[in-house]
Amino acid sequence: MPRIVVVSNRVGPLSDTGRAGGLAVALVDVLRERGGLWFGWSGDVSEEGTYSPLQFNESGNVSTATIDVAQADYDESYAGFANRALWPTLHYRLDLTDFDRRLEQGYRRVNERFAERLVPLLRPDDIVWVHDYHFFFMGDVLRAAGVKNPIGFFLHIPFPVPEVLTALPNHKEMIHALLAYDLVGFQTSQHLSAFERYIFEEVGGTREADGSISAMGRTVVADAFPIGIDASAFSTFHETAEGHENFALMKNELGDQKQIVGVDRIDYSKGLPERFTAFERLLELHPEMKGEVTLLQIAPPSRSEVRAYLQIQRLLEGLSGRINGRFSDLDWTPIHFITRSFPRRSLAGIYRASSVGLVTPLRDGMNLVAKEYVAAQDPEDPGVLVLSRFAGAAEEMTEAVIVNPYSIDELAEGLRLAIQMPLDERKARWSALNTKVMTNTASAWSRRFLDRLVSLHESVPAEG
Ligand code: UDP
Repeated sequence: MPRIVVVSNRVGPLSDTGRAGGLAVALVDVLRERGGLWFGWSGDVSEEGTYSPLQFNESGNVSTATIDVAQADYDESYAGFANRALWPTLHYRLDLTDFDRRLEQGYRRVNERFAERLVPLLRPDDIVWVHDYHFFFMGDVLRAAGVKNPIGFFLHIPFPVPEVLTALPNHKEMIHALLAYDLVGFQTSQHLSAFERYIFEEVGGTREADGSISAMGRTVVADAFPIGIDASAFSTFHETAEGHENFALMKNELGDQKQIVGVDRIDYSKGLPERFTAFERLLELHPEMKGEVTLLQIAPPSRSEVRAYLQIQRLLEGLSGRINGRFSDLDWTPIHFITRSFPRRSLAGIYRASSVGLVTPLRDGMNLVAKEYVAAQDPEDPGVLVLSRFAGAAEEMTEAVIVNPYSIDELAEGLRLAIQMPLDERKARWSALNTKVMTNTASAWSRRFLDRLVSLHESVPAEG
């Protein structure tokens, strides 16, 4: 089998440290299974920056190779264009974007430097798989440097409709660069069709007879590859010491109470204030639930160098404090808001002890927590998933209680339905969801993407 070279902004660690972030978690699973090289940022900022020596690490069949970035790279690319322009735009939050040519140039410089450092590490039969919005330009730079290997790109976050994407001042250059990849993968068919609309409507592209897309002098294959989780591991995590300990602790604390659980990085895309407000509405409309139901929100902070992230954390602290002040009793606190991360094994125990999994982002590429919650349930007494229609996961997970997170009343009603759902219905919905989660796993996802990438490359006649 050819070697897989994965490129992503953050690399490792290869063990479960409880670090938040769906992408890294999925890639660990993929690389463990197939072996290969993982290239990206060390997580460190240094004076040498992208010129720093490569740092190599080995763990079983996986090697990692990382470089630092300079402070200006970090500010302009990661904390700048990637998280102040691309992230909000691709999550439909044009009100939060900061378009600045200097940041955009920093982003392109970092893409170029990372590609230059990767080239000498590549072997002729490697398959290169680049991940996510930090590296839209990487494939283009690799091609310009003469790399002939198959190069695929997977976007983990949403691809917005062209009416939104075109707010990015450099959208044309970015999409032109994206077309340098052989295969571009999206999470859902909605994101794929938004991309196709951009290509056909915005830059006059056409579809070829073989299904590929031609535009701006380039041809690419684009498709939807919904990402999965390591479902069988998640379904057995509750048997591990950490999983069991957390499950038993929660069950003991809860007694006869029912727990609603949310697990999200603190991010404005996750719909957290709406969630807290909906829980408050539930308690207003159903006073009989006071003392009977609690909301546990696990929310590790992220990207706190970006102002919008600090603001949302402050807002949530205020909201949870206000709601708790209003409804708490001597023996009951409605909202448990924990701003630290947990290892996945512990999360599995917490998911299993919770009657409702509340996953209500305003926009999300996929949302792995939705799948993890399902995989961790007890088949004889499964909990109910309440899922936002704007999470990529909603395209597959249609047996969840699907809600519109912008409607506080609909959210509160979804919660009521989930809390009161009879066992038969819970089992029927869970069983259908679990079959999907167990079938479309992380390894099935990566196999589908990589097989497709290899087959595309094989069908191109060799240059002679
Ligand atoms: N996660 C974790 N510990 C935490 C919170 C989250 O390990 O305390 C993991 C979670 O299990 C999931 C990932 O982080 O695998 C979050 O992925 P998701 O797709 O839900 O959201 P993202 O953070 O990528 O936007």
